[in-house]
Amino acid sequence: MHIYFTFISFVLGLVLASFINALLYRIDNGYKYPDIFIKGSHCEKCGKALKTYELIPVLSFIIFKGKCSKCGYKVPLYYPISELILGISMASIYYYSLDPIYYVLIIFMFTFSYFDRIYKWVPQITVNIFLGLSVIYFLLQSLIQDSIPENSILIGIGLSVFIWVLGKVMKKPFGKGDTLVLLGLSLLLNVQMYISFIYLFIFLSTLYSLILIAKKKGTFKSSVPLLPFMYGSMGILFFLNENITEIIGNIFY
Ligand SMILES: [Zn+2]
Repeated sequence: MHIYFTFISFVLGLVLASFINALLYRIDNGYKYPDIFIKGSHCEKCGKALKTYELIPVLSFIIFKGKCSKCGYKVPLYYPISELILGISMASIYYYSLDPIYYVLIIFMFTFSYFDRIYKWVPQITVNIFLGLSVIYFLLQSLIQDSIPENSILIGIGLSVFIWVLGKVMKKPFGKGDTLVLLGLSLLLNVQMYISFIYLFIFLSTLYSLILIAKKKGTFKSSVPLLPFMYGSMGILFFLNENITEIIGNIFY
């Protein structure tokens, strides 16, 4: 039964991701209410209306080899990957019975990632709401438990100050949104999770930068959107759960 509901959570995650991706795309492209919700999906390039079987998250991408059947427009690989990460995250949170606040957390990360990938920028309002919710949740937990819940706020603050100083010294400031998200996360994750997350995040974003440099698509000075990597790292963190410390230990030490 547990496996059955885990699978349901996975499918729900895929569908939700696909829905939010479409919603953000529509808001972002100036769709008016009620078109945001009711207008059928279509190809971003040629406008071909998409049939139901062309809208199945991940599967349609694989079946149609990531292309529009009419104009051959290549759908960014980002879409199926981001959908898969949300599906795996939601299944993992359910499977390991993790704190339900992580469902909210991963959806926020998904949204940040969407904007950062396209604009290298995240709407300040979404970051503010995320920070506000993190603080409220932390305070509520403190009241309910009558003690300070496990968190890594001290590491979070230390890291933010470090990033800020590093930005000043290197004259290349780290994004304000990135720093604030890292700070908010430190309220919601315990020390073990937070440190594993930072390791994963630095590892993945550095690996990606090196691949870009190797392919001559970037230099050491080019900036890479970081929130998609935070989102991906969070997904891996939830998926591996307790095993993460051991795996990271084996890789890095
Ligand atoms: Zn098309």
